[in-house]
Amino acid sequence: IPDLKNADPEISTLIIKEWKRQSGSINLIASENFASPYVFEILGSVLNNKYSEGLPGARYYGGNFFIDDLERLCKDRALKAFNLSPELWSVNVQPYSGSPANFAVYTALLEPHDRIMGMSLLAGGHLTHGHYTSARKVSATSIYFESLPYGVDQTTGLIDYDALRETARAFRPRLIIAGASAYPRHIDWAAFREVCDEVGAYLMVDMAHISGLVATEQHPSPFPYADVVTTTTHKTLRGPRGGMIFCRKELEQKIDNAVFPALQGGPHNATIGALAFQLREVAGPEFREYCERVVANCQALSSYLSEHGAKLVTGGTDNHLLLWDLKSEGLSGAKMEKVCEEASIIVNRNTIASDASPISPGGVRLGSCAMTTRMVDEEGFKKIGAFLIRARDIATGIQKRSGKKLAKFLAALHDQDLPEREALTQL
Ligand code: PLP
Repeated sequence: IPDLKNADPEISTLIIKEWKRQSGSINLIASENFASPYVFEILGSVLNNKYSEGLPGARYYGGNFFIDDLERLCKDRALKAFNLSPELWSVNVQPYSGSPANFAVYTALLEPHDRIMGMSLLAGGHLTHGHYTSARKVSATSIYFESLPYGVDQTTGLIDYDALRETARAFRPRLIIAGASAYPRHIDWAAFREVCDEVGAYLMVDMAHISGLVATEQHPSPFPYADVVTTTTHKTLRGPRGGMIFCRKELEQKIDNAVFPALQGGPHNATIGALAFQLREVAGPEFREYCERVVANCQALSSYLSEHGAKLVTGGTDNHLLLWDLKSEGLSGAKMEKVCEEASIIVNRNTIASDASPISPGGVRLGSCAMTTRMVDEEGFKKIGAFLIRARDIATGIQKRSGKKLAKFLAALHDQDLPEREALTQL
């Protein structure tokens, strides 16, 4: 029996500490979840040992009989989970994660320096949707492709489909990306398709955040509209960390070649095994019920916060996340994140559309998928809402202190005897 504690006490201690941190805190990070023990078992299996560059039946290494079966099973289950016909759709399950999946799509469908349009980072898009700043091209997706972002209406927080159309008419992109990291509402895939048809662009949907909700019909499906759909596998889908690319059958070869040999080497077979397991779970009734609870819980949290004066971007949520605009309360996202962290509530600061730069975000993003896995119900989410309101009130009090005093205050929070620490632990 392996004994990590003896073999490497430093790593063992860090894992135990992280396990305690995870189980002892309220996790509201919208992109995180708690994978099942089966996923962990498969990730830690002998599947990790095998090299299998290539595709099932066409590998560059011997000994892949079972790995071929495993990858075929994973692909079958992926199509089934999203109710896709293998005659019309293909899936590649080898991307190491969401970012390489997105880059593989651009590599497959575009020439270097072709034009792309994705949602701006400030409005809730992802780095890999072409992010750049006035100072530099931050993401490889803006270094190797010419990118122009679209955004949201500053007052409603909703995607401005008219502005998107106008920009696309002028910019003539070869590919438009629909999908986001911090957008709390349903996305109108048909509107994106219309714009793409008008300007002759591919429609790529990045459903990384909402793929669990799509599989269980808690969010409208992008598949009737998109040419290509990418996703991560570890957010609402609750699997191992990985990525997938679904594409219309006629694009299969291009996508497969872009993943390997253009971008990646050997697939991570343990991840593919764990993903195959998870995709079977996703197709079952319990996961559907889980996703229904994810949305209901997020809406319960949203209502509680709104009733207690929080300004939520778009006024609420249709999915697993919400965005709290703290600027109007005189707070920064970073301060709220820090105060919450001291109270073992884990959130992330997030830009809101009216922010000038991603350096000092004016809001926090809150998600419900992780705590729903831990069986917190709507009443529980209202209690979490109450904790958050108290954290905000404490943070607003802190706000009045000078920067130096604030730093001292936060450092002092680690001292158990201080009254401020008391206040926070009672949250
Ligand atoms: N796409 C979206 C919409 C995301 O939110 C993320 C990550 O949060 C990614 C892609 C990238 O995924 P990864 O961090 O696994 O590379």
